[in-house]
Amino acid sequence: MQRLDVIEQVVSCTNCELHARCTAPVAFRGPAHARIAIVGEAPGRQEDDQGQPFVGPSGALINELLAEVDITEEVAFVNTVSCYPHGTPTWDHINACAVNKATQLQYLEPIWVLLLGRVALKATRPDLDIKRGRGRPFLHQNRIHYATYHPAAALRRTTYADSLRDDLVLFKTIVDAGDEWWNHIPDSCAACPLVPALLEETGLGWCPVHMPGDARKRYETRVAQMDKECADARARTARTRADQALAAVEANADPRWMDTAWAALVEYLETHTEFFVDDFWSTTKLERPRESRALGPLVLRAGRERLMEKSGQFRKSTASNMTEKPVWKSLIYGRAVANA
Ligand code: SF4
Repeated sequence: MQRLDVIEQVVSCTNCELHARCTAPVAFRGPAHARIAIVGEAPGRQEDDQGQPFVGPSGALINELLAEVDITEEVAFVNTVSCYPHGTPTWDHINACAVNKATQLQYLEPIWVLLLGRVALKATRPDLDIKRGRGRPFLHQNRIHYATYHPAAALRRTTYADSLRDDLVLFKTIVDAGDEWWNHIPDSCAACPLVPALLEETGLGWCPVHMPGDARKRYETRVAQMDKECADARARTARTRADQALAAVEANADPRWMDTAWAALVEYLETHTEFFVDDFWSTTKLERPRESRALGPLVLRAGRERLMEKSGQFRKSTASNMTEKPVWKSLIYGRAVANA
């Protein structure tokens, strides 16, 4: 879309009743491909008069603060709602105007989107509030977004002005970091190894400790689901491999070497706290395929069932307890068969 087409779309919009109450819808200001696009709430009286976004006191303050934190490049300005709303825009206005905001951002193609205020943030991520959502970068529709207070709030209260300044200092650091931007996520989140996964999953640069409640719930649900899917897949693969190996070994089992193999297995269990099939074969130095053919089915079964955790259990357990554990059952059964 060409620049004039985008402006034409906005100024001729009649998607909601606001167009009838303002001088004219206000389109974006700034160059295409500006690295930073600043998204505000809606035009105020001055913006409505002049037909330009951010030309009133809020615009003056944000320009002053951008210069103060050394963001000197030309930025683009867009509004969440393009018509002067004579107050705070409603969700109906925000939703009706979403198409205009999207078109303008699509044309501007910024890398960074600086969201000013609650309305701009909520229109982008309804699940985030400004208090917890500000001062942290997050991904949204393949652009890096960063929210802070609206300069109008900063003009009303100095605490907001201080927070806005602090947020912009961090924003500058993050913008300067380029591809390494997510290393500058505040608190301990950046050090959290889960952050890359979180970014991919939720677009949020929060670790589970610091992320907002809704996002955390979504994330935890997804992680639990992924864990289960992985565990199920691993179990399926292990079972299939074990079944195949078991079938192959059982087909060639040689009961003559069962006693030697059995003694080696008992010794291994008494001296090891965990059972690993590969370690078992290398430790006992049983000769393959002779003993392994005899013991193979049992060892494979043991590995598959993962029940041989401690050799102590073997010594302390009573015979009946032992026989209740599938692995011992199979060992005892195997020995009985071998001795028969
Ligand atoms: Fe159109 Fe947005 Fe103005 Fe409503 S506020 S008329 S959607 S430009």
